[in-house]
Amino acid sequence: MKIAILGRGVSGRSAEALAVALGYEIYFFEDGTFSGKDSENELRSCRFAVVSPGIPPASPLYRMAVASGIEMISELEFAARHFPGRVLAVTGTNGKTTTTELTVHLLCAIGFEAVSVGNIGNGWSELTAEIIRKERPIPFAVVEVSSFQLELVQDFAPEAAVILNLASDHLDRYHGSMQEYGMVKGRIFAHVPSENRIFGESLLTSPLRKLTGSKAFGNRLVSPDGDTISYGGRAIVRMSETRLRGAHNRENLLAALELIRCACGDDVLFSEKLREAIKSFSPGEHRLETVAERNGVVFINDSKATNPHAVLAALNAVGKEGSVRLLLGGLDKGMDFSELLGGLHFVRKAYLQGQCRDKIHAVIKDACECECFDAFDEAVYTAAREARPGETVLLSPACASMDMFKNYRERGERFRLLVSQPER
Ligand code: ADP
Repeated sequence: MKIAILGRGVSGRSAEALAVALGYEIYFFEDGTFSGKDSENELRSCRFAVVSPGIPPASPLYRMAVASGIEMISELEFAARHFPGRVLAVTGTNGKTTTTELTVHLLCAIGFEAVSVGNIGNGWSELTAEIIRKERPIPFAVVEVSSFQLELVQDFAPEAAVILNLASDHLDRYHGSMQEYGMVKGRIFAHVPSENRIFGESLLTSPLRKLTGSKAFGNRLVSPDGDTISYGGRAIVRMSETRLRGAHNRENLLAALELIRCACGDDVLFSEKLREAIKSFSPGEHRLETVAERNGVVFINDSKATNPHAVLAALNAVGKEGSVRLLLGGLDKGMDFSELLGGLHFVRKAYLQGQCRDKIHAVIKDACECECFDAFDEAVYTAAREARPGETVLLSPACASMDMFKNYRERGERFRLLVSQPER
């Protein structure tokens, strides 16, 4: 069988591994390298096309595929059609990676072989190829799902799934429409029974939940006092016993536990092994990570906060009124920065840099003290120099990093390096 793979990045290469394991003949297409009728005819001769999330619907290649009438699926859908094991799925604007890693950590602790795949960076198709080649046993797959991958799913049917939250992000891809973004996220539930559809804690009480198109939900765990996590009136663990900071991480923990309850039953929630595993988990680097403390000032790297909603979560988790020196700015993704206004009472001063510096400045300048910088380093040095004992210097940029860095990791590493050096 002949198939097409559109785009040869991480997901394209993962799809390639699975196509090879299945013995398919592959045609590769990349934006800009195809030409007219020949390419279109070649595409038409394929059974279907696996489309990488990096190929935007407005691109010439994507449009050619639509015009050819060929079936278009995402790499996620391709893997889902061939993966022989059990599947749980996580999406949302923020917290996907933390929740996915936490779910895997907890499943492993209670005796399952589980792995994280998808948007987190481990190709699901590649894993499926290894299983087909009998190179590894079949694990539980916990799939981190991006909205881009959800655009082209049809049969994807995880046994339980969560939508953590919905906030302004990637709206450049969705014609500026939250409605469209919410509907795409809602596709994760298309084949999930209603009792296994989980919403993040904040979405349960938010009108935004309607945007996903799903009214029913299966949430059963609660945290009545904001600290104790309980099910059916029985306590499981207290947030204050864990390494998870902030209400947003309570949302992530509740979601991970709901997924595990749906998949493994109620009793596991009260196992000592699970409780110990919850207490030992820490979110990954670049997520509210304390990287230095000097002269009474705490320096926190939250470089993974690439939209305003994540910045609000950070401010709520670390802020005392007027105590945060906040580093903002980077590459815009069509975001609504007015969401930041709700957290600016925590901010002593904002240090703005990057491609959308002026757009953010226009929105927040009347609500807090701001200064604009041409260079990232200068902004960091100035914030560090001006910080007083008891204050926090927080890199939580509300933007993508690719205007100045390779990715959010490089940005976070740069921050870590700058604040660990003696003052200039
Ligand atoms: P994602 O994979 O969706 O980008 P991460 O777990 O990597 O999510 O976290 C990205 C950013 O969002 C970090 O700054 C983190 O502190 C913040 N964050 C994590 N969970 C949540 C949540 N439930 N709500 C809001 N912000 C969150």
